[in-house]
Amino acid sequence: WSTDTVAVVTGSNRGIGFEIARQLAAHGLTVVLTSRDDAVGEEAAKVLQEGGLNVVFHQLDVTDPSSIRSFADWIHESYGGIDILVNNAGVNFNVGSDNSVESAPMVISTNYYGTKNMIKAMIPLMRPSAAGARIVNVSSRLGRLNGRRNRIGDLALREKLNDIETLTEEFVDHTVSTFLKQVEEGTWMSGGWPQTFTDYSVSKLAVNAYTRLMAKILSDRPEGHKIFVNCYCPGWVKTTMTGWAGNIPTEHGADTGVWLALLPDQAVSGKFFAERREVSF
Ligand code: NDP
Repeated sequence: WSTDTVAVVTGSNRGIGFEIARQLAAHGLTVVLTSRDDAVGEEAAKVLQEGGLNVVFHQLDVTDPSSIRSFADWIHESYGGIDILVNNAGVNFNVGSDNSVESAPMVISTNYYGTKNMIKAMIPLMRPSAAGARIVNVSSRLGRLNGRRNRIGDLALREKLNDIETLTEEFVDHTVSTFLKQVEEGTWMSGGWPQTFTDYSVSKLAVNAYTRLMAKILSDRPEGHKIFVNCYCPGWVKTTMTGWAGNIPTEHGADTGVWLALLPDQAVSGKFFAERREVSF
């Protein structure tokens, strides 16, 4: 890896994203640290620059199409393209045993649509290389379809989301909009959705499904133009999101993401990881 390798990390002004940016830059890459707030992002980038790392700041709000557009234009003008995209930006408003869906539209729009819109905007900018470009989506075990706990109750829906042969983007969108509609109508409680951190879990199961789908769609790209896309769960990490209650530091939470971004050739695609090991969706 060299400073010619350009990695973009969304939501990297703090938490796991900041640490992913730091670790990637420590491997010698050029890292674009992004934040929805200019001042906060510039300050975070400065900390890493002062540590001698090759880090540049640019504003990016993953829920704002015009912000994504100007970001893509800036990338194109400044670097011609990118090699690595880490979709880390995320929100969660459930802490402890609280399970409010009050912010469900924002949670789905940031975690799922934000990830998806960034992937769509960055794919045309992903540069050809022998090792292949990389997309890493920071997801969560809470979005697992096949976990023992917190999975979707409706077996038919679970099977449909799990069947990569027939899965479509429209179906993933349809699933999250069905959930949002039930939230609006006040009927989501009997909808068979995951029981814990419901809106967050739905957003992450959509991220997981979209990861598999994109890997399949991108799999027929010719040698030299490959793009590998995977997702991972960082564990329960001490960040603002967990109210600092997590049991592992950000260094550890970032590790599998950085490992996936830098996998040597014969990279895997369309898989879900935790602690550098594949886990089932
Ligand atoms: P933090 O709350 O510390 O950081 C979240 C980051 O996302 C912040 O930089 C925040 O920016 C940014 N962000 C939020 N909304 C947007 C937006 N619309 N556009 C751009 N950036 C945005 O959380 P974590 O570091 O813990 O979480 C990082 C990722 O890891 C998330 O995807 C989360 O779901 C996932 N994760 C975390 C776990 C944990 O235990 N902490 C467990 C499993 C998954 P701002 O400062 O402006 O709010």
